[in-house]
Amino acid sequence: MQIIIHRGTHQIGGVAVEISTASSRILIDMGEELGMDKNFTPSPLAIAGVTDDSVSCDGVLFTHNHADHIGQLKNIRPNIPLYMGRLAKEILLKTLPKKEAALQARIAQAHFFTAGKTFHIGDIAITPFLVDHSACDSYMFLLEADGKRVLHTGDFRAHGFRGTALNKMLAQYVGRVDVLIIEGTVLSRPAAAPMTERQLQQKLKEYIKQYKYIFVLCASTNLERICAFSKAVPKGKYFLCDRYQYKLLEVLEQHWGAYCPLYSHIKKTLYSVKLQSRLEQKGFVMMVRDNRKFREIIRRFNPELGLILYSMWDGYRTQEGSTIEAFLGLTKQRASLHTSGHASVRVLQQVIAQLKPAYVIPIHTQAPRRLQELCPTEKVLLLQDAECFSF
Ligand SMILES: [Zn+2]
Ligand SMILES: [Zn+2]
Repeated sequence: MQIIIHRGTHQIGGVAVEISTASSRILIDMGEELGMDKNFTPSPLAIAGVTDDSVSCDGVLFTHNHADHIGQLKNIRPNIPLYMGRLAKEILLKTLPKKEAALQARIAQAHFFTAGKTFHIGDIAITPFLVDHSACDSYMFLLEADGKRVLHTGDFRAHGFRGTALNKMLAQYVGRVDVLIIEGTVLSRPAAAPMTERQLQQKLKEYIKQYKYIFVLCASTNLERICAFSKAVPKGKYFLCDRYQYKLLEVLEQHWGAYCPLYSHIKKTLYSVKLQSRLEQKGFVMMVRDNRKFREIIRRFNPELGLILYSMWDGYRTQEGSTIEAFLGLTKQRASLHTSGHASVRVLQQVIAQLKPAYVIPIHTQAPRRLQELCPTEKVLLLQDAECFSF
C-alpha cells in the first residue's frame, strides 16, 4: 500500500490524501486552502489522474462537506466517481449557489455510503464510520488492502453530543491499525480542555433567562449545535431563522430525525416582519449571519434587551477585513459561545494509544512535530506534501 498526502502535512485545510495499491488508486478529500489574509488566493491542487488524465483514479471519497475538504471538487475530472455521506450530499446541494449548476449536477451524481457498511473500490475495502465534528455527517475511513489496515480520521472530536461513542466505536469496529492518518488541528492552538456542546446548550439556557432577544452568529451548517440551541428555547419563546437555515434544518430532520431525538421535532419559526409585535412580547433566539438583511432585522429590536452570541471560531472575527466585530456591536451585550470542531490533544493521544498503529501520520495541522513530542514512544512520521510512503 502507498500513501501520499498531497496537501495538509503542514497546514490546516486544503487536504487531499491518496491511498493506492498496485491495481487501485483512490483519493480522500480535495479541499480548498484556508487563508486568513484578505489578499490570500488559494492554490489549486494538481494531482495526476485526478486533475489530468495521465494515470487512472478509481474514486474520490469525502470525509465531510467543509470547504477545506471539498472545495476543489470542481477540479476533479468528470469521469471519476465521487463518494460521500447521504446527508452531507443533500446539505451540499442545498447550500450551493444557483449559478453553480454544473457543480450541482456533478454532486447529484455522487454515490453515497452508509456508516458501518464496507464497500470496495478495486481491491481497497472501505468502511466509513460516522464521527462527531462541526459538520453533520462526517466520517472516518478504515481502508483495508494488501493485508494492511489504515484509518483516516478526517476531522473529528469527542466533545460533541456523539463524541462519547468514539472510544467504543474504535474498540468494537476498528481495533488495531497499521497506519493512522490523524487530523491535528489543535496541535498549534492552546491546549485547554474544550467546552462540550452540551455545556454550550446549558449556557444558552442561562442567557435566555437574562436576555429577551438573543441573536446567534453561527455557521448555518453547524446543524448539531443549531438543533441543540433550538431545544434550549422554552415554551412560549420563539426559535427563529431565515428560509435558508430553515431548509437545512428540514433536510436534517428528514434524514436523521427518525434516528436521534436531537434531530427530530426541531423547534423553528421562519422570521417574518409580521411577527414583530409577538416577538417583542415573547422574546426569542434567532440564528443570524453577518449580512445586511440580518443587520436590519437586529436593528428592529431594542438593543438594550438584546444579546449577540458569537458562535464561531474567533479567527473569522479577527481576520483582516472582517466585519464581524461591527456586527457584534448591534446589541448592547455580546458574548462568545463556541467550542472547537476538532479533537483536543488529550483525545488525539487517547486515540493513538488505543489503536496502537505502527505509524502515525499527522495531517490537517500546522504543527505536526508537536505530535511527535506528545507521543515520544510512537512512530510519528513527518511527511512532506506529495511525499510517497510505502509500507
Ligand atoms: Zn478541516
Ligand atoms: Zn471540518
